[in-house]
Amino acid sequence: MVIPKKRVELSKLHTLQRLFRKTSLNTVCEESRCPNISECFSKGTATFMILGDRCTRGCTFCNVKRRPLSPPDPQEPFRLLEAVKTLRLKYVVVTSVTRDDLPDGGADHFARTVRVLKGSLPRIKVEVLIPDFRGKVESLEKVLKSEPDVLAHNVETVKRLYPKVRIGSNYDRSLEILRITKEIKRGVITKSALILGFGETWDEILRTLEDLRRVDCDVVTIGQYFAPSLKHHPVVKYYSEEEFEHIKEVAYDMGFKFVASGPFVRSSYKAETAFDIIAGYD
Ligand code: SF4
Repeated sequence: MVIPKKRVELSKLHTLQRLFRKTSLNTVCEESRCPNISECFSKGTATFMILGDRCTRGCTFCNVKRRPLSPPDPQEPFRLLEAVKTLRLKYVVVTSVTRDDLPDGGADHFARTVRVLKGSLPRIKVEVLIPDFRGKVESLEKVLKSEPDVLAHNVETVKRLYPKVRIGSNYDRSLEILRITKEIKRGVITKSALILGFGETWDEILRTLEDLRRVDCDVVTIGQYFAPSLKHHPVVKYYSEEEFEHIKEVAYDMGFKFVASGPFVRSSYKAETAFDIIAGYD
């Protein structure tokens, strides 16, 4: 009997969801209600969220809950490894909430997770999507020493909107994270993401992309904001497919090595493809 494609994808989606429940792992895909969840899960890719599912910041677009926080679970990297082995992933994105309550912002836990994955699966590629660690260079160094293949840190929005959209974060500090990363480790691929629809102007979008290129950011992803609820920041503008295409062309002209731009693009969308292209594997 031929099983319709959609049913195969749905069964894979449910298998993955069961695996994440069983291993008590959090995925950003579920926490952020990502619109690509079915597509990515059905292809066997997922972005794992370590350090719990509660955040110390309060971005007004984000659906992640705030306190209470729990200490880092030393077994979490090993559970993640088991999930990666079960799913036979070749490329893993590891991210976290922001943990301002931890002295190193969770950098040590990130580094341990990368080491556990690479120690057991030497061919695996690991992308870390890190918080800003409140600008602590020692924390960034700790993560980079664990040899991730890609270091991502998202600016999310334009500088003017930070006080309204990214409460507790700082635009220049985020750019510094990306700049210093290249200073510490030249060969690492850096990446950032921009969400549109908060009320930014065209000039501000351009300036943000230029700022990212100024710190030698290699990859940018650009997507549309969809408000998770009426309590979240309202959507000020919905961009058309054509506008996303235009922004993509502009970004490529600025020198980004890979650009994903579209209404449903999220920061880890096509992460493996971007890596393959930049590393020259394609
Ligand atoms: S830092 Fe902001 S976007 Fe990231 S998990 Fe916390 S509230 Fe959400």
